[in-house]
Amino acid sequence: MGTYCFGIDVGGTTVKCGLFRTDGTLVEKWEIPTRKENNGDQILPDVAAAVNAKIEEKGISKDDVEGVGIGVPGPVNSKGEVDRAVNLYWGYKDVAGEMEELTGLPAKAGNDANVAALGEAWKGAAAGSSDVIMVTLGTGVGGGIIVDGKIVTGHHGAGGEIGHANVDHHETESCNCGNKGCLEQFASATGIVRMAKKELAVSAEKSVLRDVENISAKAVLDAFKENDPVAVATMKKVGEQLGGALAIISCVTDPETIVIGGGVSKAGQPLIDCIQKYYREYTFSSCKDTPIVIATLGNDAGIYGAAKMVL
Ligand SMILES: [Zn+2]
Repeated sequence: MGTYCFGIDVGGTTVKCGLFRTDGTLVEKWEIPTRKENNGDQILPDVAAAVNAKIEEKGISKDDVEGVGIGVPGPVNSKGEVDRAVNLYWGYKDVAGEMEELTGLPAKAGNDANVAALGEAWKGAAAGSSDVIMVTLGTGVGGGIIVDGKIVTGHHGAGGEIGHANVDHHETESCNCGNKGCLEQFASATGIVRMAKKELAVSAEKSVLRDVENISAKAVLDAFKENDPVAVATMKKVGEQLGGALAIISCVTDPETIVIGGGVSKAGQPLIDCIQKYYREYTFSSCKDTPIVIATLGNDAGIYGAAKMVL
């Protein structure tokens, strides 16, 4: 095995790049801008140029590089192709194939949320676990499922799209995907705000949130930690939906560790407690004690997981 590998995480505004040793030591990380003009057709050439320049700068032989892993925001199939990635203005693209051609190195591509899950399973909160479920609670809800140390990509590259699991069959508002009742509508930062506003409208309880002009998820979570009745009622619903969804997925893949990441996870243990309460209640007996933990790699999970893909 070579000594080095690269992990790349393509985001909407910046591309995070990491040079790793194959034992998982991060040698160096840096960022380049994501150039989205002309349907984003400069993005991969920019990444390849950054990789090639780093190899030259460090005086590394290409024979000593295992490959380049790259995570992108959009569904990626097992061949490393995307049908479209709307955030990058991409239509069909053979991401892995193009990277191999541009760098002369073996390349693999994966969905960014799936790749982040692999990163946490390799060197993060679930380090050492080969069966992991990770949900990323940000503006939306991303997810990644690791079975036997490998990403579950699925036939359409939509494996692990936990955010669009239907958790409420009676929801009348639409999710960004067009369906109604997706987990993302409850457990994302936007979902938490939506739920808090609904709760404020029907609740007669006093709440600090009534005096907040633009309610944020952080405001709800801070109020929740102070036992604010409206925030508590809101997070009870969030925990119920998220814990319930994780309980169902656990019955399918039986993870060793469940990881919660994304901006919302900064709320820490109180958030875990309200998810775990319902998770334990709903999941199959064998899975009840499965630990639910906060992600530890933060924004670096993507580069770690991307690097791991080529090993
Ligand atoms: Zn949806």
